Amino acid sequence: MSKTMPSGNAAGGIRAGGADAGRPGARVLLERLLSAVRPEFRNDVFIPDPDSVVFFTATCALPSCPAAVRRTRIGLCQRHHAWWREAGRPDLARWLEPAEQRLRAEVPAVPACAVAGCNHAHRRNRLCPRHAGAWERAGCPDWDGWCASQPAPSP
Ligand SMILES: [Zn+2]
Ligand SMILES: [Zn+2]
Repeated sequence: MSKTMPSGNAAGGIRAGGADAGRPGARVLLERLLSAVRPEFRNDVFIPDPDSVVFFTATCALPSCPAAVRRTRIGLCQRHHAWWREAGRPDLARWLEPAEQRLRAEVPAVPACAVAGCNHAHRRNRLCPRHAGAWERAGCPDWDGWCASQPAPSP
């Protein structure tokens, strides 16, 4: 009796059909998570729910507007929230497109970073945050020359 035969019932091991497999809680949680991801979040274009007062801490819902949204209203920066109010608080999804056109007409320059090939929205000095930072770190040299000398960023 010196030899120990391998046993299918390793003491202390995980039992077949262990505790996790049949636990009802895990499935319920997954279903709740899936149902919490509402359809508008699955689209590339984010259509905010006008009734929603959460989630809006990013940028203004107008694509050409780089302003940060601080107040959690309807996804618009203060200025464009004022536009929307002036328009009589219309349905936001339908209001966005004409408002975007109005905004673009207002800004004659292409609202993108001045570095060729960089499509990021500009924030200051007509540069995106990354290029603005690089230009400042370079000591704010001649702006046109600096922009022209930048390699096109890889996508
Ligand atoms: Zn805005
Ligand atoms: Zn840039």
